[in-house]
Amino acid sequence: MRMTTDALVLRVTDTGESDRLVTLLTAEYGVIRAFANRAKKINSKMHGATQSLCYGEFSVYRSRDSYIIDDATVKEVFFGLREDIERLSLAQYFCALSAELVPEMEPARDILRVILNSLHLLETKRRSCNFLKAVTELKLLSFSGFMPDLICCPHCGEEPSGEIYFNIAEGCICCRNSGKGGIKINPTVLTAMRHICANPIERIYSFSLPADDEKLLMQVCEKFLLSQTKRTFKALDFYKSLI
Ligand SMILES: [Zn+2]
Repeated sequence: MRMTTDALVLRVTDTGESDRLVTLLTAEYGVIRAFANRAKKINSKMHGATQSLCYGEFSVYRSRDSYIIDDATVKEVFFGLREDIERLSLAQYFCALSAELVPEMEPARDILRVILNSLHLLETKRRSCNFLKAVTELKLLSFSGFMPDLICCPHCGEEPSGEIYFNIAEGCICCRNSGKGGIKINPTVLTAMRHICANPIERIYSFSLPADDEKLLMQVCEKFLLSQTKRTFKALDFYKSLI
């Protein structure tokens, strides 16, 4: 079976003398791991296309129990990120997140679009790291079956007024009476979370928050993500050690 699809290189591992094992986030087939033969050689056509954070069109075929990349056309490489260690580590975290959340052989067009948009905004420094991290985490979770319930408190059925809590384990907002164990948020952060979850991708970045609320949004989204994925991410830990 031959597959041709747009894809972003999430991770590259050298294997053998001259080959690479490449993890791709593809639009059509989710996350796949494929070998690129002789890609380590500088004069190989595959050399440039099989670097991390390279986006392009990849041609992949299945050979017995593995995938092989036999052609690739580069569309964009997020080179600018390499100049800023903080933004680069956040980009690597986004890659690790997609590798965790996207299954093999399922279309991941929306998640790929979110990641590409976030990488672009990271590279051009048009939005803060905290902002892009929160938006990316929450939208990826929403697309991966972890959409939080931000309408009303599931325990009493009311829309919380006054104090609002977010229960990271249950993924829902709660009122003061049933919010024990949740993180206290505020109407601004709740509106931001609703904006990210409810809007199409082209609109999820079009809002801004005061710095304190942006920080709170970042903390809530990160805690929710770590609670739902039940794991840690080295790139996230490294990013946090820098800030
Ligand atoms: Zn309630």
